[in-house]
Amino acid sequence: MNYLNNLTEGIGNTPLLKLNSVNKGIKGTILVKVEYFNPGNSIKDRIALKMIEDAEEKGILKPGGTIIEGTSGNTGMGLALVAISKGYKCIFTLADKQSKEKMDILRAVGAEVIVCPTNVTPEDPKSYYSVARQLEKDIPNSFYPNQYDHPANAESHYETTGPEIWRDTDGKITHYAAGMGTGGTISGTSKYLKEQNPDVVTIGLDSYGSVFKKYKETGIFDEKEVYPYLTEGIGEDILPKNVDFDMVDHILKVTDKDAAIMTRRLAREEGLFIGWSCGSAVFGALEFAKGNLKEDDVMVIILPDHGTRYLGKVYNDDWMKDHGFLEERKFATAKDIIQHRNGSSELVTINQKLKVGEAIKTMNQKGIDQAPIVDGSNFVGSISDSRILSSLIENPELKDKPVADVMDKSFQFVSPHETIDVMSSMLNRETKALLVRDQANDVHIITQSDLLVAMTN
Ligand code: PMP
Repeated sequence: MNYLNNLTEGIGNTPLLKLNSVNKGIKGTILVKVEYFNPGNSIKDRIALKMIEDAEEKGILKPGGTIIEGTSGNTGMGLALVAISKGYKCIFTLADKQSKEKMDILRAVGAEVIVCPTNVTPEDPKSYYSVARQLEKDIPNSFYPNQYDHPANAESHYETTGPEIWRDTDGKITHYAAGMGTGGTISGTSKYLKEQNPDVVTIGLDSYGSVFKKYKETGIFDEKEVYPYLTEGIGEDILPKNVDFDMVDHILKVTDKDAAIMTRRLAREEGLFIGWSCGSAVFGALEFAKGNLKEDDVMVIILPDHGTRYLGKVYNDDWMKDHGFLEERKFATAKDIIQHRNGSSELVTINQKLKVGEAIKTMNQKGIDQAPIVDGSNFVGSISDSRILSSLIENPELKDKPVADVMDKSFQFVSPHETIDVMSSMLNRETKALLVRDQANDVHIITQSDLLVAMTN
């Protein structure tokens, strides 16, 4: 008889599939590794099994214990399946931007789910990281794997994902691409592949609004790069220990919209009903492939999960329309606005030590109503005419104080690909302007009047 004793035996050995349609015109063989073939329908089953076995070996997890994890859903599913086969309880914390489907699925397999706010810093006691950490302290005989920093995460890919790809491509792989969340997939797999052949080129896919790309290229962890985005599973506002930047040769950022559209194309053109970050991985990897792959090259792209978890989002036409992702009408982007702006495009910044009175003079001379405040090359705050006026009315002596004393929080950074419709929804009474960093690392400002000019041109 041929059967599995429990679902954990079904983890791994997922197939490679050749892309035939979305890669038309691009040289090389493009293969995707379809991780929804895992029993929990995602790549995260691999790390779940390894982290639990590691905890059992070390005596951290004892019979009847509780597993607690902060998860975007997939790790939770993997942990829940392994927990069922081994008799543990599960409590998961999720950020509220995650699909409702993911929460329902976790509850369906018997886990307790705690939903936490997305738009708080990781250190905030309400964040899904902090809540998980606190639960571990409060609940006896509990284990908090912390997939971000647990070495078993990357190790599981070093031991399984990497060898499977090497075996199934007969050692012919030349390029490897994967999305970056905890970093475990890209770091562990790349380490194995580079040990077999140091010439294998590895490409990590990141989101706009995440810190990875800038950190890789400049060594700077820039909090101002962090802003809300929609894609689930990739991009971070922290540097998880599982990211080994030495194992990632190139990082490309992919917009929510490009990822969503590619996800739907993969379903319709290739029959791959896969998750949103799969669209990010394929879109970014193909962008890289366009200029770099030769006919004999073999690229493998990881597709982390299944489409069921995104039925209410990328596979829902109304949702796509609400987000401007299915718009027939092409909206101008931040990049278009910057390129077509009349007059000087020099960004006027004000040093945080400058006196308020001097700052007003500078803004007057330059004819601007608001400006970013800087400390060296860091954007630390912002000021606007109306805000200074109300501060001065309350306390006229403020004019001799440094602007740092009256400034508001820094303007938000957006991607050069962000469209006018999205940017206009971000500007309001409190947020007077947005900042954009271009490929040359120059920063530009976009105000409401820029959007009005672009709409009426
Ligand atoms: N895509 C999805 C849907 C995920 O859940 C994750 C895990 N956060 C990733 C991609 C990224 O994988 P990793 O955490 O190994 O970097």
